[in-house]
Amino acid sequence: MRTGKDYLSSLDDGRTVYLDGERIDDVTVHPAFAPVAGVVAELYDMAADPANGMQYTAPETGETANLVFSTPRDAEGLAARRAAIQRWAGHTHGWVGRSPDHVGTFLAGFASRPELFDTEHHSLGANVTAYYQRLLREDLFVSYAIIPPQVSRATTASGWGEDFLQAGVAEETAEGIVLRGAQMLATGAAVADEVLITCIKPLGPDDQDFAFSAVLPVNAEGLKLYCRRPFAPAATSAFDYPLTSRYDEPDALVVLDDVFVPWERVFASRDIAVVRDQFFGTCAHALGNWQAQIRFAAKLRFIAGIARKVTQVNGTDKIPAVADKLGELASIVGSVQASVDAAEFTATLDGNGVMVPGREPLYSAMGLQSETYPRVIGIVRDLVGGGVLQLPASVRDLTSEHTAADVAHYIQSPGVASEERIKLFKLAWDVIGSEFAGRHQQYEMFYAGAPFVVRGVYAFRNFGYQDAVEDVDAFLAGYTTAS
Ligand SMILES: Cc1cc2nc3c(=O)[nH]c(=O)nc-3n(C[C@H](O)[C@H](O)[C@H](O)COP(=O)(O)OP(=O)(O)OC[C@H]3O[C@@H](n4cnc5c(N)ncnc54)[C@H](O)[C@@H]3O)c2cc1C
Repeated sequence: MRTGKDYLSSLDDGRTVYLDGERIDDVTVHPAFAPVAGVVAELYDMAADPANGMQYTAPETGETANLVFSTPRDAEGLAARRAAIQRWAGHTHGWVGRSPDHVGTFLAGFASRPELFDTEHHSLGANVTAYYQRLLREDLFVSYAIIPPQVSRATTASGWGEDFLQAGVAEETAEGIVLRGAQMLATGAAVADEVLITCIKPLGPDDQDFAFSAVLPVNAEGLKLYCRRPFAPAATSAFDYPLTSRYDEPDALVVLDDVFVPWERVFASRDIAVVRDQFFGTCAHALGNWQAQIRFAAKLRFIAGIARKVTQVNGTDKIPAVADKLGELASIVGSVQASVDAAEFTATLDGNGVMVPGREPLYSAMGLQSETYPRVIGIVRDLVGGGVLQLPASVRDLTSEHTAADVAHYIQSPGVASEERIKLFKLAWDVIGSEFAGRHQQYEMFYAGAPFVVRGVYAFRNFGYQDAVEDVDAFLAGYTTAS
């Protein structure tokens, strides 16, 4: 199995990553990328250690593979997959949204129905199968960019008046396709092995050129990543920014400058139906988002722990009104966990023999996420008060001969040493107030699509409305003006 060292050494491959107008030489040593790459390396080391129970023999290859990439065929397989994902999520406390298990799960979903990718124009199902086998063998870290860039949401790309702002197929040849344009927003791509580029937003009949699905090595010639402002380099220390300094994942706009992609890496080309159905005609979307909810539940529990600890340190936890707030937090965390559990409990075998988590509880939790996360952050903000600002500027104030004595004396709590209190409140600030915290709020609200899509499409369509309406109809039919 791949180790963290194997993973890190593969990243220095000439990839084109831009930051502040400069090209990054080696992401494994740059302060914007090295910390999170180090965390991903830790995840690989965990999976590589048989003691962690994250390995299985993949029937698709007959070889040992990482359980987070498995295709669950029964309840036990689904439970084993969940346990492996939980183990990784526990290690990052849920703060790494796009760990390799996220997109890897979507690819397992695609490969569960390879025939979907065989059409009258192209026969690409074998590519999907072969790629999934490679993913299993090589323990690949794949990121994805599956949303058109925010140019205008008033029309789809064909209405934008300029060719290939959104990534599309500029040319098809006997050897492969040539991709041109951009796609948002590949989290983790700068430290991933490969990137899946496709489109999950609905495309119109004139958007044929933008309907493709392909997976490219991050160092593909002509592929450029434009990273947002990173937060990790600005983190003065792990003590001051315990989350930013470890878990800041780069998000990047992917620009494709006539990138040639050989057919073996293409899953769809100029095929609107395949591009849509790869997500929704397979288990990919449900299985992939269940992974995301498992991770989300781990993060919420960690945040709840911080909230409770803050109230213990401040001596407010026995006040009934504070218990009420902690109780609301507990209810939210418990509900998300219950949805994850319920999805596993209500899982069913789909037509391709995959055990798919129940969509109703899964999408119910997702539908509320754009309210859930801000509410959780709101409760923590409320409970910490000004304590997160009554903090010394940096760890140096705790050690400097000029400041150490006053800091130790005035920033403390009964039975809680100054350093312990400051550490806790700095952690709380990294959850609610730092740039990292702000990015995480945006992430939890948008990573699976804008809230109007998650609720108005996914949650709406996957709720059992038909049964509910039939029940109401039957009830209404049970009485008349005469009864
Ligand atoms: C931090 C972060 C990381 C991400 N990582 C990834 C990643 O790794 N890979 C990836 O592919 N994607 C990723 N995403 C998700 C993706 O890039 C988009 O943010 C997401 O799909 C929503 O699209 P949008 O941001 O363009 O929002 P828009 O679609 O522009 O929507 C923004 C808002 O406009 C309004 N709106 C727009 N259109 C309508 C409409 N038709 N009806 C009603 N209201 C409307 C709504 O208020 C909506 O909330 C990430 C997002 C964030 C924030």
